[in-house]
Amino acid sequence: MTLKTIHKEISACRQCPLGENRMGIAVPGEGSPNASLFFIGEKPTKGEAKQGRHYIGKSGAHLRYLMKEAGIDYQDTFITSTLCCCPPENRDPTVEELEQCWGWTEEQLDETKPEFIVAVGRFAARQFIDPLQTGKQRMGDIHGIPTWAEVDGRPVKVFPSYHPAAGLFNTSLEPVIREDFETLGTLLRRANEGDYSG
Ligand code: SF4
Repeated sequence: MTLKTIHKEISACRQCPLGENRMGIAVPGEGSPNASLFFIGEKPTKGEAKQGRHYIGKSGAHLRYLMKEAGIDYQDTFITSTLCCCPPENRDPTVEELEQCWGWTEEQLDETKPEFIVAVGRFAARQFIDPLQTGKQRMGDIHGIPTWAEVDGRPVKVFPSYHPAAGLFNTSLEPVIREDFETLGTLLRRANEGDYSG
């Protein structure tokens, strides 16, 4: 399936209950089909579901700022989320919704074949890091530490990160998030030179 076809199917998806009661419209991934960095966020916000775009407004501006500071090219990214639909009242995703929607992320990963997956926040990170599912670890334990995962039989490095906008609300997190993005930028530059040791 091409990204265009996948996105058409996401727009019409009714696989989980959110197909009937989502806020706004479904938001497929967006960005470069050959992206090195594949961001997986949590879910579209109400505003994003209204416009059908990811990371608009302040959080998007801050994400682009963090990338620029870390020497990461925004044009070399693809952005999606664990849920393509915004739940009523912007509540957290349920396990059923996450399971039902994950196939769309896998389809987009399969087409994009990135160097790195950036798992933004606990709902994305728990798809790759088991101790987050069992509650043995929290984002504070694993952010900024890359790990290998297998996606469709292909090894991909996963970089867990706090949501970039978290630093806008919690100023003590801002330097932590900035440092994580700097680490990500360094790892990406090394990977582009064939060094995957980080
Ligand atoms: S959240 Fe995902 S699985 Fe559920 S209806 Fe939306 S696109 Fe389909």
